[in-house]
Amino acid sequence: MKTDVAYYRDGYQREIQTKVIECIKSKKGYDVVLEDTCFYPEGGGQPADKGKLNGQEVLDVQQREGIIYHTVKNEILAGTVIKGEIDWEYRFDLMQNHTAEHIFSGLVYKIYGFHNIGFHIGKEFITIDFDGKLSEHNILKLEIFTNKAIMKNKEVKIYYPTKEELEKIDYRSKKELEGIVRIVEVPEYDICACCGIHVKSTGEIGCVKILSYEPYKGGTRIRMVAGERALFDYYNKSVEAQNISHMLSVPVKDISKAVAKLKKERDTLQYQLNLLEKQKLEKIVETVEQGSKKVVLFEKVSNSKTLQHFANLLCQKADVAAVFSGDDKIGYTYVLISQKEDMKELRQKLSAALQCNGGGTKEMIQGKIQSSKKEIEAFFKNYE
Ligand SMILES: [Zn+2]
Repeated sequence: MKTDVAYYRDGYQREIQTKVIECIKSKKGYDVVLEDTCFYPEGGGQPADKGKLNGQEVLDVQQREGIIYHTVKNEILAGTVIKGEIDWEYRFDLMQNHTAEHIFSGLVYKIYGFHNIGFHIGKEFITIDFDGKLSEHNILKLEIFTNKAIMKNKEVKIYYPTKEELEKIDYRSKKELEGIVRIVEVPEYDICACCGIHVKSTGEIGCVKILSYEPYKGGTRIRMVAGERALFDYYNKSVEAQNISHMLSVPVKDISKAVAKLKKERDTLQYQLNLLEKQKLEKIVETVEQGSKKVVLFEKVSNSKTLQHFANLLCQKADVAAVFSGDDKIGYTYVLISQKEDMKELRQKLSAALQCNGGGTKEMIQGKIQSSKKEIEAFFKNYE
C-alpha cells in the first residue's frame, strides 16, 4: 500500500500523528513505513527531510514505488501510533532555495533558451547547471530579475493537468514524463514539472544571491543562495568589507580602489627591496676570492629566487657555493650550486648528517634544513 503524503496536501505541515504499518530491519537501523507522512523523501534535487519519529532522530527518508521509508536507529513496532515532527527550519530553507531555483531557471529558459540540466541543494549553496554559456552580465541581469520576481510576491501554483491540457503547456522538464505530471508554476516566470516542495508565494524566498559561476561541460555552473543563506552571505561580506574599510581608513565604497593602490605601493617597495638586496649580495660576492674551493654563507634574503641568484653569483668564483637564509628557530632555506661537483651527492651527505629535504639537479639543489647554523657550519668544515 502506497504511503499517503501529507507534504503534497500541505507543504507547511510540520507534525503528524499516524500509524506504523511496517518496520523493517535495515543497514542503518530500521526503515519505518507509515500510513501517512509529512517527511519529504530525497528526490528531484531536494534532500530528504530531517526530524523525529516519537523522539527518535530520522536518519534518512527514501521513496521506493510509492512507499516512503523513514530510517531510524531503534525499532518502532507495527501498529504503534506515532508523532512525527519535521525539522521545520531545515525544510523551509530547502523550500525557499528550491523555489528560487525555479524562478532563476525559468528566467534562463525564457531569456536565453538554455535548459537546467543539473540541480543540487547542498549544505552551503545550491548548484545549477545550464546547457549554455552565460556571461557575467547575463548572470547579473538574471539575479536582479529573480529578486524582482520575489518582490512581486507571486503565488506559486501547483496543479495536475490532464494529458490533453499538458500538451498545450510549454513546461520545463529534465526527462520525458509518463502518467500524472505535477506542474509547479510561478506565473510570468516559470512552468516546470517537479515533485519537490515549494513556498506558497515568492515573497517568502526573501532574496537570492549568485555566489559564483564557471564554465561547465560546455555550459555554465551557477552557485546560488536564497532566504537566510543569502542574508547571512550579505551579513558576512558586509563585516569583511567593514573590517577592510577600517583597516584602510576609507569608506566601504572605495575599498577596492584603496586595495589596488596599496598593491601598487607594495609592488614598488618590493622592486626597490630586490634592487637593494641584489646590490648588497653583489658586495658580499666581491669579498670572495676567485677560485675558492667552497664558499658557505648565511644571509637573510626576502625570497628563494634571490637566494638562487646569490648562489649563482658565488658559483662564478667558487667550485661549490652553499647559501642559507633563515635562522635556527624557523630553519633555513638553502641552495647548493656547482659546475664541477655533483650536488646530488652533496645533498645525500647533507641528509645523512642533518635534518633536511630538497631536490634538484646535479648542478643545483634547493630545499629546507632544520639544523642549526653551528651544525651546518660543522658539516661543511668537514666536507671536502
Ligand atoms: Zn521544484
